[in-house]
Amino acid sequence: MTLGAALATASSVASRFASASRASLRVLMRSSSLRGGGVRRSFVAPPAPRRSFSTAARALASTAPPLRTYHADWAEVILPDGHRFPMEKYRATRLALEADGSLRGKMEIVPSPLATIDQVLAVHDPGYVQRVLDCALTPAETRAIGFPMHPSSVTRSLASTGGTVAATRDVLTPGTPHRCAAQIAGGTHHAFADAGEGFCVFNDIACAAVYAMETFPERLRGSETPILIIDLDVHQGNGTAKIFEDETRVVTFSAHGEKNYPWRTKQRSTHDVDLPDGADDATCLRVVNEWVPFLFETYRPRLVFFQAGVDALREDSFGRLGMTRAGMLRRNHVVYDACVAADVPLVITMGGGYSRPFDASVAAHADVFRSAAYRFAAG
Ligand SMILES: [Zn+2]
Repeated sequence: MTLGAALATASSVASRFASASRASLRVLMRSSSLRGGGVRRSFVAPPAPRRSFSTAARALASTAPPLRTYHADWAEVILPDGHRFPMEKYRATRLALEADGSLRGKMEIVPSPLATIDQVLAVHDPGYVQRVLDCALTPAETRAIGFPMHPSSVTRSLASTGGTVAATRDVLTPGTPHRCAAQIAGGTHHAFADAGEGFCVFNDIACAAVYAMETFPERLRGSETPILIIDLDVHQGNGTAKIFEDETRVVTFSAHGEKNYPWRTKQRSTHDVDLPDGADDATCLRVVNEWVPFLFETYRPRLVFFQAGVDALREDSFGRLGMTRAGMLRRNHVVYDACVAADVPLVITMGGGYSRPFDASVAAHADVFRSAAYRFAAG
């Protein structure tokens, strides 16, 4: 059995949820080729909200379950010695959360299932997927991703995607008590349909968004733009923007460093905000405080994805921005409060975080999940 066939079998067994047929999902992606005139694009100043937006906390049910939080570090990745990608930060984040006694009863950390091949193919080009599964990417493709494909990284990529899909299922299943679910992985927003780059192989949020549209259309009714992707990683969510450039039901918002990677492959999100080098808490929070209410008011989302990269921290090696850990926490709460106030389900993923040593990044990553547990779980 080839590796691809083995993984296909494993993923179909591991997956507990149905996948729509490849053909129907392809049609789904093609069928929405008209981005309506109602969808604005902006590259300069954030718009003022049309009316004041209340972030007053809506009371959550006293029975709100622990925050379902997936992790993919069960799938060990073998990287070359001295590789610059801090793969260990994922496990370190999970261990920090598991060691936090204040989260007892508020967070449930579970292994990410593997994405099914159909879930991946719903977004990605079959030839590219095959080359990934066979560890047969070209040298140029491998260079763009930034690490060589190895059976371990194939499994990890499928787990990273599968956890985000599972979190989406958790918050959209009819009658679910979960208002939020999270993934200590994913946020691989540089992955395009037919190519990976920037440490991203498959685009987990894109796969999960298509899964949501195909599997839970009734949960997305009532808005012509039901899926909102809020990407606050310091690097533009270029793969996500490109994948959904013609999809009217998905709104992509990316606030990122204007001088940062990707330099040659930036795309047009529905809305992009360029942040100047050194942008501090005040600047970044002003953007988030103005844009998040605008996005909720304008698009009335029924599902929100939050790519919660923490590479805007001033300690980050790649970020070029100047946020503090406290500012990052406030940033996260703007998104959480908006989802609670509007009663919109939320899926949170990881994103970049490259401080050296990685402690500052891990602390900020853990904050993302810890504060979500405090916000969304009862007790
Ligand atoms: Zn990043």
